[in-house]
Amino acid sequence: MSRNDATSELVELMRQVLPQDGGPFALHEPEITRAEENQVLETLREGFVSYAGRHVALFEKQLADVCGTKAAIAVVSGTAAIHIVLAAYDIGADDEVLCPSLTFIASANAISHAGAVAHFVDCSEYDLGIDTDRLDQYLERITSKADGICRNRATGRRLAAILPVHVFGHVGDMAGLRAVASKWGIPIIEDSTEALGSHDDAGLLFRVGAASVLSFNGNKIVTTGGGGAILTNDEDFAKRLKHLTTTAKLPHAWRFDHDEVGYNYRMPNINAALGIAQLNRLEDFVARKRRLAEIYRRACAGMSNWRFIEEPAGTKSNFWLNAVISPSPDMTLLEQTLAELHGAQYFCRPCWTPMHRLPIYADNPRDALTITENLADRIICLPSSPKLADIARAQ
Ligand SMILES: *Cc1c(COP(=O)(O)O)cnc(C)c1O
Repeated sequence: MSRNDATSELVELMRQVLPQDGGPFALHEPEITRAEENQVLETLREGFVSYAGRHVALFEKQLADVCGTKAAIAVVSGTAAIHIVLAAYDIGADDEVLCPSLTFIASANAISHAGAVAHFVDCSEYDLGIDTDRLDQYLERITSKADGICRNRATGRRLAAILPVHVFGHVGDMAGLRAVASKWGIPIIEDSTEALGSHDDAGLLFRVGAASVLSFNGNKIVTTGGGGAILTNDEDFAKRLKHLTTTAKLPHAWRFDHDEVGYNYRMPNINAALGIAQLNRLEDFVARKRRLAEIYRRACAGMSNWRFIEEPAGTKSNFWLNAVISPSPDMTLLEQTLAELHGAQYFCRPCWTPMHRLPIYADNPRDALTITENLADRIICLPSSPKLADIARAQ
């Protein structure tokens, strides 16, 4: 088939699933109701919009309950959440953190903010997460291990953590990753920023690593305007994170004493209030997003040029972003199709430009990134707001 046929096939599918008179169709929009207004109004009326106020603790408790972890610490962004976990682990200069190149830039930036170096690894076409078999073989080739510390032989730097990403909300190979991480003695810090509301049968999501990170940016499944959180089952670690995110201030009625260089990363009360109302609706969001995914999935079944990206076996994805994939890498086709979709008010997106293709990260250490490069030139993300489930037409 020609490029033009492939382009019109996807534009036609969008027209059928989401008739144009309901548009324009953003990639992912927050849904704000009276419940959110009321929660935020409470903080305004109580006068506690910032660092004092009861909503932060309530939101943290609710988050830990929803995600099944012992503790949650709310912070100002997902990026800050990753940064603070790395800092709490004393990961910095002379360290490398293994992370996929196929991710949003926040993952790599947080590693840079900590003063460490992002070391890019390849992903799997199956679940879009780190290819754990390949990672194991790669570590065999590049590391030396002495005194329990795993180092990159070429740079001499410690391989201090693995930062897997659950791309578009699909849960990656957590069992495989746990095996690799324990074999090499490298801690896992999960970038779960896209996976709130997802599940895996093995129960490893949010629990496989030392800590797991969420984001509540405006385009995520639950929003606080901007914000993030760290989930952990280690209550001492949770206390340490809380201390670090609140300027490392020692509790005292009036004194300002601080015992280390801390961060001002605490989530403001006004944002936490918004988060409480949003989190109450998580189940409904996931249900509607899964309904929308099912409509897309069925509609895509008849296409010859595009395949719907399914949830991995043994998992239940939140389908944060629905996506389709073309049979072979073709940037021209991708650009042409995105231009037509935008022209028709479907604000679809490609996957992120892989980190190693960005000039700022081009010289970072990396494995061969064959699958990453291939996928980046094949994926288109479709409008995925929960409200679209109410207007999408089953084909
Ligand atoms: C959203 C996101 C983050 C965090 O983003 P913030 O805007 O800082 O909250 C990190 N990693 C990935 C993969 C993301 O999608």
